[in-house]
Amino acid sequence: MTSIAANLQAVRARIFAACAAAARAPETVSLLAVSKTWPASAVSDAAAAQQRMFGENYVQEAVAKIAALTTQENQELEWHFIGPLQNNKTKLVAENFAWVHSIDNLKAAQRLAQQRPAGLPALNVCVQVNVSDEATKGGVSPMTTLKLAREICLLPNLHLRGLMTIPAATTDVATQRQQFSILRELKENLNRDGLNLDTLSMGMSHDLEAAILEGATIVRVGTAIFGERH
Ligand SMILES: *Cc1c(COP(=O)(O)O)cnc(C)c1O
Repeated sequence: MTSIAANLQAVRARIFAACAAAARAPETVSLLAVSKTWPASAVSDAAAAQQRMFGENYVQEAVAKIAALTTQENQELEWHFIGPLQNNKTKLVAENFAWVHSIDNLKAAQRLAQQRPAGLPALNVCVQVNVSDEATKGGVSPMTTLKLAREICLLPNLHLRGLMTIPAATTDVATQRQQFSILRELKENLNRDGLNLDTLSMGMSHDLEAAILEGATIVRVGTAIFGERH
């Protein structure tokens, strides 16, 4: 077994245990393998170990990797863009990805809607929310999330699926849960307001257990699968 396959097995076991602790069915949580900075061969190793969903942060790097891996037997890989989205890169993202987790302004959403090629299914999108009020982090404030979500729902070629967050890094589990609970409650409020969101993209290598306890439906895991990035 490659170390990537062994790491994947360990991460799946963590997800399974966290689901048990949260009294949730394991199939309600999807694992997004974050392959940024790692070569296509690392993605192939993970794909050989039945991993299907991959997350990337840098458009150029991702597009090269996707091209290298789009062969007959890799048709079923699903690519998620999770990094900061610059206006001059939206076209490549609209053309190459199935999901975008990191939308935090209407202009980016409008460009993606306009640039999504006809013939591809709607692009699945999440609004990125800044739950920890750090000025350095992307994401809209919880207060303005409903407004942006409503505007995105009116755009063609996009399917608003839910919310994503990158909370302040902390090893304190109570603080991790408190930050993730903000996103969960926000999604519940938006759904009460008539939206139909099914996705909470939250939890990474060090805090996926807390995220699952607070309702994560997609955990985004890089380091615990591929190793430390350099
Ligand atoms: C890099 C990255 C991850 C993965 O983080 P790890 O700590 O390596 O698991 C998840 N989400 C986003 C948005 C990232 O940029």
